[in-house]
Amino acid sequence: MLPHTQPGTVGNRVAFPDDRDRNAATLDVMRIGAHVRQDADPIGAGERLGADIVQLFLTDPQKWDKPEPHPQADQIRQSPIDVVVHSSYVINVASLNNRLRMPSRKAVAEQAAAAADIGAIGLVVHGGHVRDGENPAAGVANWRKLFERQQDKGGFPVPILVENTAGGDFAMARHLDAIARLWDAIGEFGAGFCLDTCHAWAGGEELLGIVERVKAITGRIDLVHLNNSRDEFDSARDRHANLTTGLIDPAMLTAVVSAAGAPVVLETPADGIADDLAYLRGALSGD
Ligand SMILES: [Zn+2]
Repeated sequence: MLPHTQPGTVGNRVAFPDDRDRNAATLDVMRIGAHVRQDADPIGAGERLGADIVQLFLTDPQKWDKPEPHPQADQIRQSPIDVVVHSSYVINVASLNNRLRMPSRKAVAEQAAAAADIGAIGLVVHGGHVRDGENPAAGVANWRKLFERQQDKGGFPVPILVENTAGGDFAMARHLDAIARLWDAIGEFGAGFCLDTCHAWAGGEELLGIVERVKAITGRIDLVHLNNSRDEFDSARDRHANLTTGLIDPAMLTAVVSAAGAPVVLETPADGIADDLAYLRGALSGD
């Protein structure tokens, strides 16, 4: 049985609305935060940053380990800070290689369950890719199978947020035409979308109007990964920069946030995250 807090004290949620109401309407609606490295104490890290939302890994992102129950699960669920989980980098749902695809499917299911345990709003999963020369349509079909098979088990307990990626000519979610083919296959299962601004830029998608173009395909943007880029447009390189230090005009990043109307997670270099949050809040409030 899950532990319950007393009515009226649930997660301090009741303590904050007055303060939040004083903020600009945009800021009130929009949850802004960051990926935190302190996986053992994500809420503490979020509080120190003044974040509304934190993103974390629930297992070593370079390994296949099944997540352990989080020692702070109760605190995380009850906190007014929202939580989203980023799945492991090793996952590639699209892969035509059984020995990669099978553990990927299993890991998505395990990490979605672990994300639900801490009350996360979703599980971010990279679009993945097939290898050079392989048929991308087969990769799309593998994404569909992920959802079909899980549907037989009642579906995923949190939304799966497919993230666009920066590189490769055989990626499932680099270019919008590929995302459109992917969505034809998985949209009906309630798949969500995470738009990463660095990945879109480095992947060769213009940021001007991208929210509208993505929503025309997916119908939704559930999360924005707001990152500047150290590399040129269409470089296919994935190196995030702090908001005002990369090659993307910071005003363009702010415009994406305003248009998307979705929670925002910074995945920028840690030393600059506090400044990034201050910059973004200032820009959105018109300071
Ligand atoms: Zn990202």
